[in-house]
Amino acid sequence: MTELYPWLLAQFKQMQTLISNDQLAHALILSGPAGIGKGAMADALAATLLCKNRQPAGACGECKSCLLRQAGNHADLLLLRSDSQHLGVDAIRQLNQFTHGAAQQHGYRVAVIPQADTMTEAAANALLKTLEEPPAGCFIVLVTSNYPQLSATIRSRCQQWLLAAGNAAQTAQWLRQQTSQAPPDFLVDYCQGAPLKALSLLADNTADSLGDSLKLLDEYVSGQLPLARVVKQLDGNAELSGLLGYYLRKRLAGPLEFSRQQAVLTAYQRWCRDATRIIGQNSALALSGLLTELKTLLQHQEAKWKS
Ligand SMILES: [Zn+2]
Repeated sequence: MTELYPWLLAQFKQMQTLISNDQLAHALILSGPAGIGKGAMADALAATLLCKNRQPAGACGECKSCLLRQAGNHADLLLLRSDSQHLGVDAIRQLNQFTHGAAQQHGYRVAVIPQADTMTEAAANALLKTLEEPPAGCFIVLVTSNYPQLSATIRSRCQQWLLAAGNAAQTAQWLRQQTSQAPPDFLVDYCQGAPLKALSLLADNTADSLGDSLKLLDEYVSGQLPLARVVKQLDGNAELSGLLGYYLRKRLAGPLEFSRQQAVLTAYQRWCRDATRIIGQNSALALSGLLTELKTLLQHQEAKWKS
């Protein structure tokens, strides 16, 4: 049987109904934040489509098709992998060949493209033709955490499934069940509700250090901590751009002066861009600049609220 995370079950059931009624779109995009379970959903969907003895809960797990798939050896399932940051045209040509071939197990064929947003332009163009005239009995499942990054022409030819978790309380409850401890208050929101991301941050203790860093930022903005201390603590933190993005979302929520909100966001976006593009940048200096700017803007905003 297909085991699936509880928050995905309702959408999975919808997919199953569409499969039963022969109404599921032949090209789908599974999107949603990292850590929502898109890969698990793609697996469950592929398993269900390929199963010869489909059950109300999904694939049977016992038929020849299910056994071949579990062994990673199903000729009618293609899972594209890219070794690098980009999914190139060769991988898509392989997919096109696969989709135009005959099914080996006399059923559907399923091709899954993980991280579909990493397709190069040539790859996306090569895929477009197949999406326009999908071969009979073939399903193409694109998976992405970055839906807007996909080209508009690809998006327009696929049915989008935006995967979502339950509400924050349900997610916190699930995390409690997995870890036998209450997650810190900010965590679910920080992970944009994505339970698996929250779980991984709890598992490697990143959640604790994130909590400390958020406290540090508050103390700096309110003038209790010198800039050098904060920069020393935060510079080089692997989660830094996510951390600052979250901090700004929290601090900027509320009655805002639009131009100042824009100024804060622009400063943050510029810093994110430079951090990835400028090789050899003095990261501590860049971070100092951003934090100084943020403090000025946030303090000004607070002074305005109080007056
Ligand atoms: Zn089966």
